[in-house]
Amino acid sequence: MTGVPVVVCRACDGLTFTVDTCVCTYDGDRLFVEGDRPGDGTAYRDCQLCQGVGRVARPCRPCGQTGRRRAQLVLTMANVDTGAVASANVVPGVVEPAPWPGGGDWHLPLAPLVRELAAAVGAGSWRDVRMPNRSPDGPVVFLPRRWKPGLPEPTRRALEAAAIAAESGWPWYLLLGRTAVDPPRDLAADLGRWCRLADLLYLDLVVEARRRHSHADDLSWSIRYEIPGGAVPAEAHGWADDLPGAIAATTLHDAMYGLIERGRAAPAHYLAGRDRECPQAPSVDLDQLERRIVADCTDVATGAATAGAQAVWRDGRWWHTSLRTAGTTETFVERSTGQIACRQAVVLRRGWQPPAPDHPSGTSTAATATRTVGCGPAPARWPVDLPIRTASSVPAPAAARPRCAA
Ligand SMILES: [Zn+2]
Ligand SMILES: [Zn+2]
Repeated sequence: MTGVPVVVCRACDGLTFTVDTCVCTYDGDRLFVEGDRPGDGTAYRDCQLCQGVGRVARPCRPCGQTGRRRAQLVLTMANVDTGAVASANVVPGVVEPAPWPGGGDWHLPLAPLVRELAAAVGAGSWRDVRMPNRSPDGPVVFLPRRWKPGLPEPTRRALEAAAIAAESGWPWYLLLGRTAVDPPRDLAADLGRWCRLADLLYLDLVVEARRRHSHADDLSWSIRYEIPGGAVPAEAHGWADDLPGAIAATTLHDAMYGLIERGRAAPAHYLAGRDRECPQAPSVDLDQLERRIVADCTDVATGAATAGAQAVWRDGRWWHTSLRTAGTTETFVERSTGQIACRQAVVLRRGWQPPAPDHPSGTSTAATATRTVGCGPAPARWPVDLPIRTASSVPAPAAARPRCAA
């Protein structure tokens, strides 16, 4: 097979659109929908999507409404230290299929191709630009079960083309490499750096273990930044099985994601610049921290399971607390079908609140660094007695002020 083959889109069979079951059928012909009560499969008669028919036509996204897909992936490796770049064009026939280890499926082994590219540009380590945590071996392309080594070559290549085309939603894999081999990741050092950043930004760093189900022993671990005084979020957004797994699966961007939403009910603080010593990254004992959090998932007095536990890094130390169930909330949401859904969520609270952050406050001079302006929900507007800083009141930078590296 020569050139780049184009195959018919499997999602729409070349029609450029699909006819799908309308989502209103999941809940049946009801205006008010309760979370755990599945419908009987009938359409909602006043559905705004299907007008009660139960099926809707949608433009086909995988093929971009063309009805066809290119059976082509491009792997590009760039060494950012030297500027050397090499690419490989993956079309049917370029990579010889191999059996998947331990199973009967066949796949296209792209890892050797990636390593050839790395050797060509002199990269000792590399990462996928789009998904840095993904395996550096590139995408995994499984072949249809019908693929067998004994099939005629045109049939084999056609099946390979279908498999490659199915992966072509993101057809260009850009890998950025460095000449030196990356040292193994030091998870404790990473957590220490995040603690230091929390100190710098006057934020809490929260390490949390939450029970996946109310009576289950398995815990779901997550790490995130919070504004001090905020409520426990309804969703943890982390699914790691232990603390090292949570650190490994979390980037700084992940830990910051949703910070504003989580802090909407937190007490407001007035922040102003000040001279201060740059905090050092603490040394964190992961085993000890994990054991303490796991221990807090059991009530000391009764031996009953709690909803979870947290360790909160605030004011340069860890504060430990369990999580307790504090009732449920109901939220009514209008769906795109026009139905009204009632969502129930368990409300969690901390069993014990760490002391308020020890940020410098109490003076009304322009040198005030941080000042709490409310103890309840964030005020609708700033109080009028806050000191207003003007250009003339900003102190000149000290000559020997310590600098904080990023
Ligand atoms: Zn399509
Ligand atoms: Zn519908």
